[in-house]
Amino acid sequence: MKIFVVNAGSSSLKYQVMDMDNETMLVKGNVERIGIAGSFIKQKRPDGVTYEVSKDLENHSQALQMVFDAITDEKCGVIKSLDEIGAVGHRVLHGAEDFTESVVVTEEVLKICDKNTEFGPLHMPANVGCIRACIALMPNTPQVAVFDTTFHSTMEKKAYLYAIPYDLYINYKIRKYGFHGTSHNFISHEAMKYLGNDKAKIITCHLGNGASIAAVDAGVCKDTSMGFTPLEGLVMGTRSGNIDPAAVEFARKKLGLKAEEVVNFLNKKCGVLGITGKTSDFRDLAEMIENGDEQAKLALDMFAWRIREYIGAYSVALGGVDAIVFAGGIGENNAAARELVLEGCEVFGAKIDKEKNKVASTGNIEDVTAKDSKVRILIIPTNEELMIARDTLRLVSQN
Ligand code: ADP
Repeated sequence: MKIFVVNAGSSSLKYQVMDMDNETMLVKGNVERIGIAGSFIKQKRPDGVTYEVSKDLENHSQALQMVFDAITDEKCGVIKSLDEIGAVGHRVLHGAEDFTESVVVTEEVLKICDKNTEFGPLHMPANVGCIRACIALMPNTPQVAVFDTTFHSTMEKKAYLYAIPYDLYINYKIRKYGFHGTSHNFISHEAMKYLGNDKAKIITCHLGNGASIAAVDAGVCKDTSMGFTPLEGLVMGTRSGNIDPAAVEFARKKLGLKAEEVVNFLNKKCGVLGITGKTSDFRDLAEMIENGDEQAKLALDMFAWRIREYIGAYSVALGGVDAIVFAGGIGENNAAARELVLEGCEVFGAKIDKEKNKVASTGNIEDVTAKDSKVRILIIPTNEELMIARDTLRLVSQN
């Protein structure tokens, strides 16, 4: 079956067509600047054939129409008509407490997603808008929603509650949800397969522009670093991660920010960008460090230190650890960050092989464990689209 995978952001739309008979990607592309002047689509097939069109787009529905033109294009596309698509899998930001698994989309599901827009006001309207547009453009094709939060829905109350008046949880569902679930799910299961151990205790580090870490016991998520929103936890490209809320209020007054500007500040102006004052990108950071930039070195040290704090905590929470897995743009490509993260983890038997760790990303699992390490250190390229396509296929095959 061919599955169309959609990952909509507030002004972007990434997509892939997957052939699930052999789990191969037939084509992938992205549309950017939706709703902003200068929208464009870029698509690439594995054989290198590309397709690019620029045309202003008002909304995600128009963007999808552009995508459908691209994937059915005679020269650069991969299908003749949309009828060849057996199902569509949508990445949806937030399942809240309503969805603990991926679901086949119904009108009822959409109503619940609409209700949950308040948990993700930037992403949810785009996610739901794309689902509705797909239903309108291909009414007979099943649509599946795969939520970023559901993998973490197995956390226990002691892990997901904030120590604030309990009524705030009961009345408003304020709690930790966790994100990047599709990636943590994918890489933890790939690690279990690689280790040949379906009871393995695994710490998964998804380190990209957004970064999070999860404690996974026999495939079940026990804890994760992102919270009510993706702002909590690790130091990220532009997000602060954990910070004393009293310091936030103090800074707000000093900066003269309005209350409603604070979250945007913590999401967009902090993290590595805040410390370097120049960049949020780890490639720039590496270059700056090479040129002796002390702030860049400090930012990398802070990034790694915070991850180590979580690795220590999660090793205890899991009662031991069999593997630490790195994924995401930084986790897969930045050897210096991996080495720094593992510094000091020898204390519980986790040691990286510094030579093997220099490996350039191959797209395959890389085992960079030192010979005398008790804990396996793995680099596993994440593949959220494949995970979404697998879930989609599983659900539509059951119906
Ligand atoms: P997103 O969260 O947007 O999906 P990514 O997983 O693509 O982010 O990660 C982006 C980060 O990964 C950036 O800081 C970037 O510098 C870094 N990165 C991506 N590719 C490479 C690479 N080939 N070498 C070094 N760093 C990389």
